[in-house]
Amino acid sequence: MSEITVEVFKELEKSILPNEFNKYIKKLALDKTLSKPSFIVFKTSNLLMAKFIQTKYAETLSEIYAKKTGIKPEIIITTNEKKLNLKDKKTAKKDLEKPNSTILIESYNFSNFIVGDSNRFAYECSKSVAKNPGKDFNPLFIYGSSGLGKTHLLQSIGNFCIENGKIVICVTSEQFMNDFQFHIRNQTMDKFRLKYRKTDLLLVDDIQFLGNTKGEKTQEEFFNTFNELRQAGGQIVMTSDKPPKILKGFEERLLSRFESGIITDITPPELETKIAIIKKKSEDNKIVLSSKIIEYIATNMGDNIREIESAINKLNAFSNLMRSEITLEFTKSVLQDQIREKKESVTINDVIETISKELNIKPSDIKSKSRRKNIVEARRIGIYLSKKLTINSMPAIASFFGLKDHSAVSHNIRKIKELMDEDGFLKIRVEELENKILKGKNSE
Ligand code: ADP
Ligand code: MG
Repeated sequence: MSEITVEVFKELEKSILPNEFNKYIKKLALDKTLSKPSFIVFKTSNLLMAKFIQTKYAETLSEIYAKKTGIKPEIIITTNEKKLNLKDKKTAKKDLEKPNSTILIESYNFSNFIVGDSNRFAYECSKSVAKNPGKDFNPLFIYGSSGLGKTHLLQSIGNFCIENGKIVICVTSEQFMNDFQFHIRNQTMDKFRLKYRKTDLLLVDDIQFLGNTKGEKTQEEFFNTFNELRQAGGQIVMTSDKPPKILKGFEERLLSRFESGIITDITPPELETKIAIIKKKSEDNKIVLSSKIIEYIATNMGDNIREIESAINKLNAFSNLMRSEITLEFTKSVLQDQIREKKESVTINDVIETISKELNIKPSDIKSKSRRKNIVEARRIGIYLSKKLTINSMPAIASFFGLKDHSAVSHNIRKIKELMDEDGFLKIRVEELENKILKGKNSE
């Protein structure tokens, strides 16, 4: 037995029952002639036992080897009865030529994704890609703010395809970068390419972070991976916080690849969708919330569904801890940090009036279609603060500001958020406006 294998067995021994270890693992004999770092063969007394150990322990063994050596080997358990037969050899070889699918989060699937106007198109595109990978929508590019379900959809595509026998590699762009650097350092780029180019689907979450590597080899490698995989009929799906047009730090040729398939956004959920999601999540958590409480959470919390989920979990935990029934009062007190109650009394007119006074722009101009820079900015601030501070729905805000529909509202909101991210002064100005609007209301 090699030194490393002794260590691997020691580690496995810690995580399984002593009699399991003695019965199955201890008796395994390493076949030194057949084994290589990436392909390790063990022998045991009979075929049935070999099959059992293969299914139950091979993956864990492989992971422990990977931890110790940096190389994740294929583990083959076979028997002393006869030599590794031809069929085993063949499948072992075939497996070596194909990468293993990534292990995905099983609970992210299409069946528990709530569909509404805000995500319908993204959902339909994702389903279509999952059913027909590499065909119509390639690449599929899904963008939207944090917590709106991009990763959920991406993983749903992956889970669906793995179930249908496809090979799926799913990584964040950061994992892709780290993986690339790891294989460069270890001079194992052939393995890296096998993994990323011989897959049926490549799913890359949060591609925006690849923009931090402009001018580095990683983008070039991603470009080549993209081209080669697509040429071979592989499907690519990416998610991002922004559409390709305004992504920063990317080479032009990559952006044009991102745009060459179909692009879809996920916008903040409308009230009905939010309510449906809260209902579903509370059912999943086996907690009963009255419709009043569901409505309270939906109207008072922001649009980030991750935050809504954590609020529901918190509610659940506190009610168990304090053995208290979940009433509206209880909900309000538990969630007071998460919820800054919207002043029901703030109206869009209040917002516009304050902005008009502070920025010295006529209310009618703010609502007009003027393209003058200062007016466009004031209008965007107005839209943003109307969404943030009033109880109006997106369509209602759209019609008030004379916009086509709710997606125009989210476009304006996204835009002003970006500008605020870039320009600290603008951010402070908008915060001051927000405080003035709320103060004006409270002093009434
Ligand atoms: P993103 O990747 O866009 O930041 P996630 O996909 O991680 O967001 O979603 C955050 C959480 O909200 C996840 O737990 C996800 O299951 C849930 N979620 C988001 N959208 C939906 C939806 N439409 N239906 C059900 N759950 C959702
Ligand atoms: Mg995500």
